Amino acid sequence: MLHRTRAEQVLEIYEDFVERFPDFKSVCEAEPEAIENELSSLGLRWRARNLHKLSCEIERRYGGVVPRNKGELLELPGVGNYISSAFLCFSENIPEPLLDTNTVRIIGRLFNLKINDSSRRKKDFETLMRRLLEFGDCRHFSFSMIDLAEAVCRPSSPLCHECPLKLSCSFYRRSHDETDND
Ligand code: SF4
Repeated sequence: MLHRTRAEQVLEIYEDFVERFPDFKSVCEAEPEAIENELSSLGLRWRARNLHKLSCEIERRYGGVVPRNKGELLELPGVGNYISSAFLCFSENIPEPLLDTNTVRIIGRLFNLKINDSSRRKKDFETLMRRLLEFGDCRHFSFSMIDLAEAVCRPSSPLCHECPLKLSCSFYRRSHDETDND
C-alpha cells in the first residue's frame, strides 16, 4: 500500500482494509473486484489482483499461515526478493537484508561504493548489509534505515551534520575534507 502513497494517507485505507479483510481467507473469498475497489484510490489495481492470488495460495498451500522460509515465500505469486525479505525481517525479525533505493544510498555513501540502478542487486551491498545486521536486531535496524533515509540521508542535500553516522561515513569525510581545503 505504501508503493506510491505516503504513510499518513495510507493509514486510514489500511485500517479499513484490515477491518473488512482480517485474514487471507477473507481476501481469497472476496471477488477480486472488491479488493481492487478497496485499493483503487492508491492506484494499485494490478497489485490488488496479486494480493487476491497470493491470499488464495497461502490459504491453499499453508492453511492461511505465511511460511517463514525464503524459498517457499519466493514461490508465492507476486513475491520477489524484496517482499520476502521485508516479511522475514519486519514480521519475524529474521536477519534478511532489505536493499532498496534508500538503504543502498546510505550504504553507498557510508562505504564509498558507486550507486546505480542495479546496486540493490549487487552482492557487495548485500554482504555489507548482512554484516551490519549482525550488530542489532533486523526489525529495528531496518526501521532505523528507513527513518534515516527519509529524515537525514536524503537523496539530495543530506543533513550530514545532524547524522549519527557521520564519523563513520566516507561521504561525510570527503565533503568535510573538501570544505576544509577550500
Ligand atoms: S553522514 Fe551524511 S551521507 Fe553519511 S550517512 Fe549520514 S547523512 Fe548520509
